[in-house]
Amino acid sequence: MADSPPTPDPADQPAEGRSAASGSQAQAGGELAEGLRAERRPASDPAAEVRPALERVVRGLRNRLQGEARAGLATVARPAAPSAPAPSREREVAGTPAGPEAAPDSAHPRAYARGSEAEGDDAAASPDAMAAQLKAELTSAAENAPAVHVRGPDLFDLRTPDLEEGVTREDALARVAAEVAECTRCAELVASRTRTVPGAGNAYAKLMFIGEAPGQEEDRQGLPFVGRAGELLTKMIASIGMTREDVFIANIVKCRPPGNRQPAPDEAANCATFLARQIAVIRPKVIVALGGVAAQNLLQTHDGITRLRGRFYPYMGASLMPTFHPAYVLRNYTPDTRKKVYDDLLKVRAELDA
Ligand code: SF4
Repeated sequence: MADSPPTPDPADQPAEGRSAASGSQAQAGGELAEGLRAERRPASDPAAEVRPALERVVRGLRNRLQGEARAGLATVARPAAPSAPAPSREREVAGTPAGPEAAPDSAHPRAYARGSEAEGDDAAASPDAMAAQLKAELTSAAENAPAVHVRGPDLFDLRTPDLEEGVTREDALARVAAEVAECTRCAELVASRTRTVPGAGNAYAKLMFIGEAPGQEEDRQGLPFVGRAGELLTKMIASIGMTREDVFIANIVKCRPPGNRQPAPDEAANCATFLARQIAVIRPKVIVALGGVAAQNLLQTHDGITRLRGRFYPYMGASLMPTFHPAYVLRNYTPDTRKKVYDDLLKVRAELDA
């Protein structure tokens, strides 16, 4: 959905516009004060004195509104850009307040100008008649105001072109996987890979794990985390009451680096769009970054995993928790390492339940 520019808040009007408005109000206020002073003067026939003063006030207001209307109409009459969408009465965001307060300012001058052209400068009209005319014009302006496209919650919507109408999340993820299978962006990885490993799991997962890169066994099977580290990851998931079928598991890069080396920065950058599209389709509530390489690439930082782990970071609409990679835990299988990972996972569980 293409968003039209947000409706400017009146408080954000240029200073010039605010000055002009203040000037109008000041003059109108002066005329009103003059009318009230006239009303307080002793007179033999109060009604006869008040009536001209009120007529002057209404006439002054009316003339000023007409002048502003002509100026506003000149702005409104400029031809729209060719790409501008046609106005629609439909409001894009449910709950947008209806009525004149939500209409653009240009709607009102347009309505006043329309009224003044039809009516002409009828100085002899009674104050009641002029007030009724102004009320009718304001009502007409509100009813005929063009649609206002308001930026709302969709401002941070992570919808993706992969999820256009009628496409399921599974289909969208399959589309990403098909593109990964054809990808040749990283020449060295393409030359050495057996199979691509796009990721696997629940397309509606609230929890997503992101590792570093496929290893030898993953490269052979085309699935993520299926070796010894994968077995430990399965236990980690079970420790917070979930199964692998509940989550989605992916890696920073989808092809195995030769010799199980770390993915190079340009390889991670090449592959970043695939992962971002997967996250946008799944929209998990929590992402666990497994190991320093995953956390550093996702958070774009050089800080180490020991410093990063244990707390949440906002990432693509999710809460991202870095923790140790299962392979590291296997190499450092101490009570302290396991406790730290478990503590991190308990925070993940709490965040999922929040
Ligand atoms: Fe393409 Fe990613 Fe494989 Fe590089 S790692 S060749 S970007 S799929």
